[in-house]
Amino acid sequence: MSTGQELLKQRLAHIEERIQAACERAGRKREDVKIVAVTKYVDAQTIGDLLDIGIGHIGENRLQDALPKHEQYGDRGCWHFIGHLQTNKAKDVIGRFSYIHSLDRLSLAQELNKRAEAAGQVVSCFLQINISGEQTKFGLSPDDVLAFLRETSNMKHIKIDGLMTMAPVVENQEEARPVFRGLAEWQKRINEWEFPHAHVTELSMGMSNDFEVAIEEGATYIRLGSVLVKPE
Ligand SMILES: *Cc1c(COP(=O)(O)O)cnc(C)c1O
Repeated sequence: MSTGQELLKQRLAHIEERIQAACERAGRKREDVKIVAVTKYVDAQTIGDLLDIGIGHIGENRLQDALPKHEQYGDRGCWHFIGHLQTNKAKDVIGRFSYIHSLDRLSLAQELNKRAEAAGQVVSCFLQINISGEQTKFGLSPDDVLAFLRETSNMKHIKIDGLMTMAPVVENQEEARPVFRGLAEWQKRINEWEFPHAHVTELSMGMSNDFEVAIEEGATYIRLGSVLVKPE
């Protein structure tokens, strides 16, 4: 095993302990929380190392960086697109990424639906909601969620399987808790509406600085970058 892989395994072991402790505190099963390794800081080689040590989910946030990496390793693992997606790039994610975490507007939904239809696919999307209300954050405003679901309900080639949010950067992860709890409340509300295209089972929330609190509040995908792969 290479030194790169050794280091990743050590970090993963430490992260694993923290995930398990958070699951125990919340009375959740460990297998209900999946790690998406966010590889935006690192080269393709590290993605190979992650796949080799058993990480199954790879997350990238910029398409132009992701494409060559996907070219090399796309046949392994499950790829997640987690960053802001320009409408004119929607065609490039179809068939490459299993999950789009950043569906945040109608124009993008229309384009994804159109491109997925042309490819004969149904694309699994997570609706990104701006729970914190920060101006700097992407995401649909909570006020627009119901209208968005109505307007997308006739799109046969996208389905909304999850919700995603980003918490504000805070000193203490406890301060992020209301944002995560707010997303979980949206999951409940949306599922009560029973839109056929929006059975929300996944919550993509929690990053290196706040994943434990996110797990306590119900995260099913935590997106871990720096804590796992950031070069020293
Ligand atoms: C970079 C990024 C992450 C990972 O951030 P870390 O704090 O390094 O864990 C998660 N989600 C998104 C959308 C990102 O862009």
